[in-house]
Amino acid sequence: NLSGRLDSVAQRMRGQGRITEDNIQETVREVRMALLEADVALPVVRSFTDEVKKRALGAEVAKSLTPGQAFIKIVQDELVRVMGGEAAEPLNLSVQPPATILVAGLQGSGKTTSIGKLARYLREREKKKVLVVSCDVYRPAAIEQLETLASQVGVEAYPVSSGDDPQRMARKAIDHARRHYFDVVLVDTAGRTTVDDAMMDEVKRLHRAVDPAETLFVVDAMTGQDAAKTAQAFGEALPLTGVVLTKADGDARGGAALSVRQITGAPIKFMGLGEKTDALEPFHPDRIASRILGKGDVVSLVEEVERSVDQEKARKLEQKLRKGGKGFDLEDFREQMQQINQMGGMGSMVEKMPGLGQYADQVKEQMDGSYVRRQLAMIDSMTPRERTRPDIINGSRKRRIAAGSGVQVQDVNRLLKQFKQMQKMMKQVKKKGGAQRLAQQLM
Ligand code: GDP
Ligand code: MG
Repeated sequence: NLSGRLDSVAQRMRGQGRITEDNIQETVREVRMALLEADVALPVVRSFTDEVKKRALGAEVAKSLTPGQAFIKIVQDELVRVMGGEAAEPLNLSVQPPATILVAGLQGSGKTTSIGKLARYLREREKKKVLVVSCDVYRPAAIEQLETLASQVGVEAYPVSSGDDPQRMARKAIDHARRHYFDVVLVDTAGRTTVDDAMMDEVKRLHRAVDPAETLFVVDAMTGQDAAKTAQAFGEALPLTGVVLTKADGDARGGAALSVRQITGAPIKFMGLGEKTDALEPFHPDRIASRILGKGDVVSLVEEVERSVDQEKARKLEQKLRKGGKGFDLEDFREQMQQINQMGGMGSMVEKMPGLGQYADQVKEQMDGSYVRRQLAMIDSMTPRERTRPDIINGSRKRRIAAGSGVQVQDVNRLLKQFKQMQKMMKQVKKKGGAQRLAQQLM
């Protein structure tokens, strides 16, 4: 599925220390495949990947200390954008009451079920007085289904008999609602199993008759490519104000969620997550994007790191690391410790940080606040010459440093040993060409 595919692309990108035009092309190609396999509509795939590529090749990824993660952030942002922006879009019912909501879509897409859910949602959460009316007058079972749902969720159903004229019933229901001070009228419509002219004509006439505050298109998330086609047909026939994406609880490949917004221009306002009347949720594009990438925590983690790290200092440190640790002295070591200290409380983050591998325990130990403070105290008790040339620190200097910082001589030994280890580690890193990555981890 889309989530799995994008997640594996993301996993690999996350570890990338360097992003080149080549691996961007390659990764964008993988993103495109993932979208196509998830049944995202072709024009949406195209604009999605174009935008990702443009931004990835632009300055923001190359300049980033964490290019792999910067790339993932771009994909995440783009997912949010195609789904209509950060927040859930509410129903707009601020009209002279009763506000009418017309619900259209194919047969079996979940219109009637969604009306039951919306009725409950509006009654319970928004304290609205709700009337429902079935204009699916061809099947007695459809009228009954809505009546049953209405009584389940405690709202009134306007009485309709099979064979009644849909437009006339809709108008009568609205009239009833006006006279009895209802806030909202939900109008159910007949759908066919495929798009056809007769159905479209009828729903267009109904739209004219009721002049709705909201015209919602209901689409089954499981229908993949067909969802895009249906959305296009309904979007051309009706001035849609929103979409309800149903059956999002099934193992849909996820494409519909990405396609319908761009194709209809209308935001997904709700998603259905089951058959029960409470299985309805406002659609939050940002949360859905995180779910699709499967790594909401990683994205917020990236942002956290980006905020904490002083990028300029990291770059200077990186330059020293590139020299193979030669210029790296206790002053730098102290600066590093201070940075870590400032980040505070980030011990748990270390484990989540990509590629930390063999140094995890060591770095984690250094993240501990009191330990870092003690190390800083020791370095502060050294003379400038001792800091730049640690090899001159003999036994008597060690005793002086220990006394000055309130620690034992063995603590000073440990600090110096650790400093040497770090120098050595940097030389290794230089060989592997991962200086930038290490710099970013150490900061
Ligand atoms: P309509 O023909 O558009 O009115 O569709 P219905 O409301 O009658 O729903 C068709 C079928 O889909 C019913 O069996 C519903 O229980 C089921 N259904 C509707 N919405 C959802 C949903 O969000 N999740 C699941 N799992 N089933 C749903
Ligand atoms: Mg129905």
